[in-house]
Amino acid sequence: MGQFEKGTLYVISAPSGAGKTSLVAEMLKRDPVLGLSISHTTRPARPGEQDGVNYHFVSRDAFEAMIAQNDFLEYADVFGNYYGTSQRWVEQALARGEDVILEIDWQGAAQVRRLMPECVGIFILPPSPEELRRRLTGRGTDADDVVERRLREAAEECSHAQEFDYLVVNDQFEVALKELLAVVAAQRVRTAVQQQRHATLLSRLASS
Ligand code: 5GP
Repeated sequence: MGQFEKGTLYVISAPSGAGKTSLVAEMLKRDPVLGLSISHTTRPARPGEQDGVNYHFVSRDAFEAMIAQNDFLEYADVFGNYYGTSQRWVEQALARGEDVILEIDWQGAAQVRRLMPECVGIFILPPSPEELRRRLTGRGTDADDVVERRLREAAEECSHAQEFDYLVVNDQFEVALKELLAVVAAQRVRTAVQQQRHATLLSRLASS
């Protein structure tokens, strides 16, 4: 990694129930230059999830073999299952000049921050604990103890929010989406980025 990267790496974390997946899906729809890294996981697919679309679903043995081969940019045990980001996919997408989103937990975000300090970290917060409980219960399919466990896990995830560069509160979906797209737009006009993209313009203007 390093000097060959052209795209920007976004690391987006949130507790379950904050609306991260829907927001990221909408960002991808509205911005064709953004790409999403599809993680590997050992957790079983939920109804409606597809292998290669939501995740690459793999066995524990296969995941551990990938760890041994250094295939992961980062990986973590998230509440009993392994999740990891393919190093090669991310490197290649960034080298092509694409902006890449990683939807990962705070542990993975911390690893990526150490390896690639130029990445942009965004944490999505629910507007209140009450609303989070309502959203987690609203799925309707989970037993009470599952909801309570998710709330505890959410509190742990949220305790790391301050480690990120941007905090977006998802109260109204459209407002949160606008803020996320604004972060992306701002990154694209950073001087470090524009100096490369507009090197000729800058030198022509300076010498005219
Ligand atoms: P879920 O099982 O609900 O899809 O995801 C559980 C948690 O794992 C979420 O916080 C999600 O962001 C995180 N996660 C998903 N993919 C990765 C990954 O590749 N690496 C890490 N560290 N966390 C991930």
